[in-house]
Amino acid sequence: MSEKINLYQQIEKIEFIKDALKKKLNIYFGNRVIDYLMHYPKSINYKNYIVRPITIKDLGKQITIDIQVVNIKFGFIKLPSTILCTNKHEQKIKIIYFNISRKFVSERFKKGQFLRITGNLRIFKNEFQILHPISILDFENLKDFCQFEPIYNLKKTNIRQRQFFKLIKSTITKVEFLPMNEWINKKFLEKYEWENFNISLKSIHEPKTHDILDLEKFRKRLAFDEILSNLLVISLIKRKEHLHLKSSSINNCFLSKKIINDLDFELTGDQMLAYKQVSKDLRSNNSMFRLLQGDVGSGKTIISLLAVVDTLNNGFQGAIMVPSEILARQHFDYFSNLLKNYDFKIRLLTGKISVNDKKQMYKDIKNNKVNLIIGTHALFNKELDFYNLGIIVIDEQHKFGVNQRVNLLNKSENSNVLIMSATPIPRSLTFVIYGEVDISIIREKPKNRKKISTSIIGTNKIKDLTNGLKRLLRKNQKIFWVLPEIGMEQESPSKSSVLKRYDYLAQEFGNKVAFIHGKMKNNEINCIVEKFRNENIMILVSTTLIEVGIDIPGATTIVIEEANKFGLAQLHQLRGRVGRNNLNSNCILFHNNQMSENGRKRLEIMRMSDDGFYIAEKDLEMRGGGDIFGTKQTGLPSWKFFNPYRDINLIEDVKENLRNFYENKKECENIMSIFFDKGKLSNYFSG
Ligand code: ADP
Ligand code: MG
Repeated sequence: MSEKINLYQQIEKIEFIKDALKKKLNIYFGNRVIDYLMHYPKSINYKNYIVRPITIKDLGKQITIDIQVVNIKFGFIKLPSTILCTNKHEQKIKIIYFNISRKFVSERFKKGQFLRITGNLRIFKNEFQILHPISILDFENLKDFCQFEPIYNLKKTNIRQRQFFKLIKSTITKVEFLPMNEWINKKFLEKYEWENFNISLKSIHEPKTHDILDLEKFRKRLAFDEILSNLLVISLIKRKEHLHLKSSSINNCFLSKKIINDLDFELTGDQMLAYKQVSKDLRSNNSMFRLLQGDVGSGKTIISLLAVVDTLNNGFQGAIMVPSEILARQHFDYFSNLLKNYDFKIRLLTGKISVNDKKQMYKDIKNNKVNLIIGTHALFNKELDFYNLGIIVIDEQHKFGVNQRVNLLNKSENSNVLIMSATPIPRSLTFVIYGEVDISIIREKPKNRKKISTSIIGTNKIKDLTNGLKRLLRKNQKIFWVLPEIGMEQESPSKSSVLKRYDYLAQEFGNKVAFIHGKMKNNEINCIVEKFRNENIMILVSTTLIEVGIDIPGATTIVIEEANKFGLAQLHQLRGRVGRNNLNSNCILFHNNQMSENGRKRLEIMRMSDDGFYIAEKDLEMRGGGDIFGTKQTGLPSWKFFNPYRDINLIEDVKENLRNFYENKKECENIMSIFFDKGKLSNYFSG
């Protein structure tokens, strides 16, 4: 009962957590107590506990009252089960359940029992009723009651709200919060009136009001800690790298120049500048650590190719890492095609290939029989060891989390790193994500690009739209059709979904339509994307799966359904899937007329502008106003506490706090071990 635990303890060894739950916690949060304790609530449920008699003023509200069960009537066919209760003011309240098993009712309720129930109060035929209570507590368990109960986002965890809440509660009572030396400067603690780490962590789970914003003070402190620890890790790794200079620099840039000459297009001015900056980094004695930012379609890939060929030509290996299999294959094709006249051995490494092939590939990489490897995060594999890695290119890096970034930096010891991102990120944020990083920006679009015309239309115009698409098909132009949901049976059938839209379009266009979504197998998806690229599939219905970098030059039109539900940054990413050739392209923002003011504004911004940096700024602005979208849809990485839309102002202070910080070994370790597993960073801990 009095099992004591500490924050860094492995969940594995804790007795009061059931094995099944341990497994889920491990998968979703991590294997230590602190990993799940750092889950910030998304809202607070106010239980509205009422001791006085209830009145009609309480109707329609959620309330919590103490009652005693007087009588139980089981339901029958259409009649609900009814539990008649009274409170100590001798008021009658009925608890009503429709469609519930007799077993549940008979096990849950006993005559004479005292209960604390929470639910919505209503009145029916002059009787107070609570329909399907939200929670029921036996009097023995009143200690579990909280007037203000944090609600957590547990969507992908498979953990129930109640179960998680109980876990947090018992953890907080059992955990020993050991005193730690403060690592935040006194100056900032006073400026923001912050509590120490332990109190802040505990407080986010014990709200004292129903307003989540009242937890901001604690969240902000933890956000500060989070950025501090991320930056600490990133800079320690980089410091270690700088101890030894790059093994050798890349001096011969002959090949990239030849390839530029042979291209069937001319590089834009911005591309040329980025190329020069990258080449200079490669020639220098220090490792390159550069972020290449450029809107979708601005032509980043060719820049990475130029850097890679020079590296390979100087006798080093290269690795390109992307977040999806589709993209890996696409890059593989792009590189193989442009380099077909040269004798480089290029391989594709994804999670899909067989264990034996993988082993062979690892061997070949180790023995320098492979020059360039292109793959997904399979590249992180510990067994993968290079002969002499000279460059790592990471495409669409923002989709990778901080731990992956750290793994990567670990691998990149002494080699050059080029990160490519289509999300225009303000400088202060790039610092949070990458630490000190050089930046190249491609703003200019290739000259031959036609403008994408964007229109906003309601779903009632679907007939006109289909006719328009038929005209495009006659001209052999391809179409993306994007929806927010897949449409598997669990979701509500009324919503527009990939499967429903596919059914509709298949009636109009027959086998010229296909669909893909994230629940399908990778090779199925690849196969369909290939048919869309090269064969007679003309319309590809999809979830936002296609968002990340898919290059299908033949596609001229993208329809985004329920467009008002997407964030600006994401709409912009999606729109970038078209306009990749010299034809006129269209983006159709399709909506069902039920839009919020903000939703309408967002679509209007999309119609007026195609400047990714402007759109990103607006996105930041509009989300700051507490819009419906989480950071998930921005293309930014996700943090536990840090909120890019609220905490920009912390960054300068974190930087200052970080100055001369490395000497405080103990504090460094403390703060790093909060957000990172010690095992993974063992090289950077002193002890
Ligand atoms: P992104 O920056 O979104 O990754 P890509 O590198 O995929 O863009 O480029 C999109 C397409 O534009 C590719 O087919 C590429 O070969 C082509 N491209 C790149 N630069 C130019 C250019 N300067 N002129 C014409 N086409 C270009
Ligand atoms: Mg790209």
